[in-house]
Amino acid sequence: MVKKIALEEHFMCPEFEHYWKTTVGDVDPAIYGRVVARLSDFGDQRLEAMDRAGIEHAVLSLAGPGVQAEHDPATAVRLARVGNDLLAREVQRRPDRYSGFAHLAMQDAKAAADELKRCVRDLGFPGAMINGHTNGQYLDHPSLAPFWERVQDLGAVVYIHPADPVVPAPVLDGHKGLRRATWEWGFETGSHALRLVFGGLFDRYPKVTLALGHLGETLPFLLWRFDSRAKLYGVNLAKPPSEYIRENIMVTLSGMFSAEPLNCTIAALGADRVMFSADYPFEQIDEAAEFMDTVPLDEKTREDIAYNNAARLLRLEST
Ligand code: MN
Repeated sequence: MVKKIALEEHFMCPEFEHYWKTTVGDVDPAIYGRVVARLSDFGDQRLEAMDRAGIEHAVLSLAGPGVQAEHDPATAVRLARVGNDLLAREVQRRPDRYSGFAHLAMQDAKAAADELKRCVRDLGFPGAMINGHTNGQYLDHPSLAPFWERVQDLGAVVYIHPADPVVPAPVLDGHKGLRRATWEWGFETGSHALRLVFGGLFDRYPKVTLALGHLGETLPFLLWRFDSRAKLYGVNLAKPPSEYIRENIMVTLSGMFSAEPLNCTIAALGADRVMFSADYPFEQIDEAAEFMDTVPLDEKTREDIAYNNAARLLRLEST
């Protein structure tokens, strides 16, 4: 079994459950209870699952939109700190096994920048996970310039996690089975990342590294088309879009345990831009690990994707 680092692994604490609950839909209460129990555990249950899967280290992040769905900015700022302090306590108990992604109130760019700095400098977090839009505002909004400046200064990673769109697209009407993780989140989250690329964020902040789950939310499949149309439509960027996607975005395997998209992603972005993740507890951690251990790859590439690329990004080499 190859040793692994996982970057999209979730937790929950009572202060945030009401934000998450509104997005889970009508789940059987027994299943809901089991998922909350797994999310809330930082001890034996999680560590045993990690051990079974060969995951030496996991970067933990809050499940659900969290305070990004909060309508009172002051409450959002206050609660984000509560969540980060709780996570930091768990990380400090097991620093060899856990790191944390900061949870940020993106309603207030300066507060988000300051909290990110506190999380990186004081709590030792490698970056932040942003759960999609914040009450309809995306990360390319001009008011967020102070946040991106701080991200670049700190060398922090920003992981964009899927969220429900502001309004469901009419094309999905009547097809509940296409909503959320089937198709809706991929389009929503891929579009969010493309807003940053096409909006010139990486021309302004060339050292920023963005992370995306689900093998890049379909972007690796479409690089040629982005370049071709950006030129045709006169998109004003210093480089073709594919170059930013290759140089400023890293992707994880979360919830995409399939060889064909993995091979496409490696071919499109390079094997050094791809990292393992399980998306615990929403995906089967054993299935994720078995895929990583057995998918046909040369062993150097397998070790890089499973561990080395993430260790470099998270600066974990010394542990
Ligand atoms: Mn996830």
